Amino acid sequence: MQSVIAGNLQRVQERIARAAERAGRRPGDVRLVAVTKYVGPREAAAVVAAGCQDLGESRPQDLWSKAEALQAMPVRWHLIGHLQRNKIRRTLPYVGLLHSADSLPMLAALDRVAAELRRVVDVLLEVNISREQAKHGFLAEQLEPLLPQLPTYRQLRVLGLMAMSGLGSAPDEARRQFQQVRQLRDQLRAVCPPEVRLDELSMGMSGDFEQAIAEGATLVRIGSALFEGLD
Ligand SMILES: *Cc1c(COP(=O)(O)O)cnc(C)c1O
Repeated sequence: MQSVIAGNLQRVQERIARAAERAGRRPGDVRLVAVTKYVGPREAAAVVAAGCQDLGESRPQDLWSKAEALQAMPVRWHLIGHLQRNKIRRTLPYVGLLHSADSLPMLAALDRVAAELRRVVDVLLEVNISREQAKHGFLAEQLEPLLPQLPTYRQLRVLGLMAMSGLGSAPDEARRQFQQVRQLRDQLRAVCPPEVRLDELSMGMSGDFEQAIAEGATLVRIGSALFEGLD
C-alpha cells in the first residue's frame, strides 16, 4: 500500500511540475493538497510518509478524526468542504487553511470564534464559478462589494480564492472556468484593501489540475489520482 501511494504521489508531482513548466511557472509555486476523504488514516499516513504534508478533507468530522489519528505527524490540514456554523469551534484548532469560506455570516462567525480561541485563521473565499445551485460559495459579483469589510475581521487572513469546475465539465470548459477565477482574482486584487492579499488560487482536482495550473492555480486539491490501484 505504501509503495502504491508513493508511486502515485510521484507521478502526480511530476505532472504538476510539467504543467507548471508548460505555463512558464516554477513547480514550487504549486502546492499539492492530498485529499484523503476516500481513504482511512493508514492511507493518509502513507501519503505523509511519502512526502506530502498538506492533507485535505471535505467533511469536518473526518478532518477531526484523521487529525487525531495522525497527530504525531507533521501535517498541515486543509478543510475544503462546507463548514456548518456549529462545527467551527471544534474544527478551527486543527485547520491550517480553510478553503471554503462561503458566505458573509460564515466569515463573521469564523472571526468571532477565532477571537475566542485567540487564533488567526487563514482562509480562502470559495467562488461558485459554475453557478450550480447545489454548490456553496459566493457568486463572482458578490465579492467586490465585500472587500471593504474584510479588514474588519481582525482574526482572519484572506489569502485568495477557491473554486471547482462545474460537474462533468470537459477539460476546455474547466479551463475556461479557471481562467474566469483568475481574472476575477486579478480584478479584485486591483481594488482590494492592502490587508487583503488574494495571492492564492485553490483550483484543480484529479481530472483537471493541469488546466488549473495553466490558469494560475497555486494549490491543487487531488484525491482519487493518489489512491488509485489500492484494494
Ligand atoms: C473530493 C474533492 C477534491 C478531490 O477530488 P478528486 O477528483 O478525487 O481529486 C477536491 N476538492 C474538493 C472540494 C473535493 O470535495
